[in-house]
Amino acid sequence: MSTFQAPKGTYDLTPPRSATFLAVREAIAAPLRDSGYGYIETPGFENVELFARGVGESTDIVTKEMYTLTTKGGDQLALRPEGTASVLRAALEANLHKAGNLPVKLWYSGSYYRYERPQAGRYRHFSQVGAEAIGTEDPVLDAELIILADQAYRSLGLRQFRILLNSLGDKECRPVYREALQTFLRDLDLDEETRRRIEINPLRVLDDKRADVQKQLTDAPKLRDYLCDACKAYHEEVRALLTTAGVAFEDDEKLVRGLDYYTRTTFEFVHDGLGAQSAVGGGGRYDGLSEMIGGPELPSVGWALGVDRTVLALEAEGIELDLPYTTSVYAVPLGEEARRVLFGVVTELRRAGIAADFAFGGRGLKGAMKSANRSGARYTLVAGERDLAEGVVQLKDMESGEQGPVELAEVAAELTKRLG
Ligand code: AMP
Repeated sequence: MSTFQAPKGTYDLTPPRSATFLAVREAIAAPLRDSGYGYIETPGFENVELFARGVGESTDIVTKEMYTLTTKGGDQLALRPEGTASVLRAALEANLHKAGNLPVKLWYSGSYYRYERPQAGRYRHFSQVGAEAIGTEDPVLDAELIILADQAYRSLGLRQFRILLNSLGDKECRPVYREALQTFLRDLDLDEETRRRIEINPLRVLDDKRADVQKQLTDAPKLRDYLCDACKAYHEEVRALLTTAGVAFEDDEKLVRGLDYYTRTTFEFVHDGLGAQSAVGGGGRYDGLSEMIGGPELPSVGWALGVDRTVLALEAEGIELDLPYTTSVYAVPLGEEARRVLFGVVTELRRAGIAADFAFGGRGLKGAMKSANRSGARYTLVAGERDLAEGVVQLKDMESGEQGPVELAEVAAELTKRLG
């Protein structure tokens, strides 16, 4: 029998690359935690209806990309294709918005599933860290989120990314624009599927990647010309706040994004080293979503950053994160009694908060020292029968190569001192 492989469009995270993923998640989460966002975790699946209503029946995500299943009990579920609808559902269910402290600021990290055509940077299982600020309409909040994402990417050393910014208007001005756009699009030479799209989600047509379609869109009505005064003022304020914060952005009128729920501010972070799948993160304001899923009016804004693509972006820029080795001390026993004694020392070190590992399997000195090297440990402890008879272990500094005996009872204290 041949061995199993990870399902199509998925991959496993294994050491050492997996450490970069953890570090990326941490780097994205850190500025959020420092800015009043609380951690939220929701199930990996939801009732399919939540996404149909929340993400939108006319989106690719819902019509083509959802993993749906019927349980033995007859429930229609879907693996979550994105985070926002679930987080809002959970916040409403827990009445977080009624605790009198708006906005409710939440962050999350997890796996998402879309049945997409796999290619470089596009997977069927991927990982996002996201943030949502629920219940407040305030351009400062939109700016805060964009600034925090920028800060996260910069803290990782990324530089070759750009922020694209747009406003999609609100429930006053967007419908007027939508109609004007539909009238324009209906006169173009387009295929059947795109014609259908004009009727259900015309803004998505602007997003079409094909050159012959883009050529016909040059004179399409611009959303900017249709924004109501309130939306215009709101957008100008977001832009001004970003400028004041020194965060560069590009106005991108064609940025509509693939989800139905966005209003006003939308943005995307694109990385120039990634080829076709260049979006490393994106988000925007979704003032109508709460009502769409049966909640009260709760204007909100959020983003999700893709962990997989952020790691690819690091690789594209040649950035190696300065990840400290996890093991500080590596113990190499020579002989049975040394195994028992040194394992005791390792346990003591671990309880004292010192990261320690052990040469398992009774290997010889040479092989064990190779493992010690590979572990990146700053110190190794070696002990044989003669050392034990003298009540010492040999402590070796792997950087300087210096080695000397340390009293068994003093090992933990000595290493604590040396490791600072
Ligand atoms: P979206 O919800 O589509 O705006 O996605 C937000 C971010 O998640 C994107 O910018 C990507 O970084 C990431 N992402 C979305 N879909 C995929 C996918 N199929 N594979 C890998 N990353 C993805």
